[in-house]
Amino acid sequence: MIKSHIISESLNNNSYLINLHDNKIYYLHKKLLNAIKDSELNNKIKKSNYYSKKVEFLKKHAILPQSIFMEESITENVFKANIVEHYFKNPKHILFEVTEMCNLKCRYCIYGDMYHSYGNKDRQGRSLDFAQAKLLIDNITCDNKSSKIKKNISFGFYGGEPLLNFDIIFNIVKYSISKLNEHYNISFHMTTNGTILNKYIDFFIEHNFFITISLDGDALANSHRVYHNQKPTFMDVYKIVKQIQTLYPSFYEKNINFNTVIHDLNDTNSARKYFIREFKKNVNCETVSKFGISDNINTFSRGILDIKEDEILDKDQMLNLCTMFIDSYAGLVYSKYTDLNNINYNKKILATSTCVPFSKKIFIKADGSIYPCENVPHNNYLGKIHLKYIDIDFASIADKYNAILKDCYATCKNCYFFRTCGICVIQKEVNHNFKCASYKNQKSFSNYASAIISYIESNPDLLNIIKGRLLQ
Ligand code: SF4
Ligand code: SF4
Repeated sequence: MIKSHIISESLNNNSYLINLHDNKIYYLHKKLLNAIKDSELNNKIKKSNYYSKKVEFLKKHAILPQSIFMEESITENVFKANIVEHYFKNPKHILFEVTEMCNLKCRYCIYGDMYHSYGNKDRQGRSLDFAQAKLLIDNITCDNKSSKIKKNISFGFYGGEPLLNFDIIFNIVKYSISKLNEHYNISFHMTTNGTILNKYIDFFIEHNFFITISLDGDALANSHRVYHNQKPTFMDVYKIVKQIQTLYPSFYEKNINFNTVIHDLNDTNSARKYFIREFKKNVNCETVSKFGISDNINTFSRGILDIKEDEILDKDQMLNLCTMFIDSYAGLVYSKYTDLNNINYNKKILATSTCVPFSKKIFIKADGSIYPCENVPHNNYLGKIHLKYIDIDFASIADKYNAILKDCYATCKNCYFFRTCGICVIQKEVNHNFKCASYKNQKSFSNYASAIISYIESNPDLLNIIKGRLLQ
């Protein structure tokens, strides 16, 4: 059982009460803090003491929790077969790995020699067949046919290099429009290495594709991105991007974005400056993956992982943590107006932050195997799309998730980080004897809150940025 509130002190000696019952953070005057501590210790309350009376008043009006311990907020066994089925038939986003093939051999590729995970050994250059994609699109039921308001659905294309299987992209786009356009606003997204993008650009413009091009910066920064014969790719991609920027300026401005991997030859600061200067774009930066690295990688590969101290990445990470903290504990963030009428403080939430399968997306690998997203290990699929039928058992998926969560429940119900932990147990491949590195007891949660609040206190401008993000 966890306490219903935590008191945390910032490095600037300010005290805050985090009410975990209704998710609110209160700044505490020192005398009020002492009165709360007194009342917790059940000391005799001096009736004449203004702050003691105030504690009683705040409790009476449920601003301070009335009891020291919280009712259990975590629940287990919540995945139901019909809910999983509903999401599978009414997806918001479907991501297709249209091919395992790639015309590049980037040195840090998660499917390359540096890594042992991600199902690398199973990659055989397979491509998805349109018959499989069609079965999945036909399976979409659209639960609001009677409504005049269209739902949103997006299709993403991923690889390998997706453009090596352009035919299936073409067919999926045409078929999904013919089949779903009446009830859905459809959008298309693709991540590409950009080396042959010019060949198909007219099609992507016609269908308003949102395209992310992977590029690590200038020629030197991009030099881990090479063809199979080790030839650099920078100049080819650069020319194609410039061509699109010149010939189709409004498409370029609205629909083209960049993704950069940070490794030993670049850093976030120089990457961001480069993309603004050269392409008039902000760039999304992510570091080379440190998960699943082979034990026997060579010295050169180990060097790639040698990322410079990156102040900007640290700042980005702190901003993300602060945003998550305010979103989860400030108690004032509602995603819809109607949520204001449905505030339920006793609502139980799921152990861990694992999503209901398919509620966020459906990911189909080139061999037809089905996953809840691309970030989970690629060896534990939830079903398979064959050429003529879909093999999926919603009851056994629900059972599987429930069994995993049951294993986590005993730990999570005592964890103070339960509202915002961000841990996906499917991603982490947790099965038995769940031990969570992010588990927080009362003290470690209070320290965590103190670090976040101290950072915000020292960087007050952050609050406006956070507000902007939460209102998006
Ligand atoms: S990482 Fe886990 S929680 Fe996130 S979308 Fe994938 S399956 Fe869901
Ligand atoms: S941090 Fe770990 S122990 Fe805590 S709620 Fe999340 S998954 Fe459970």
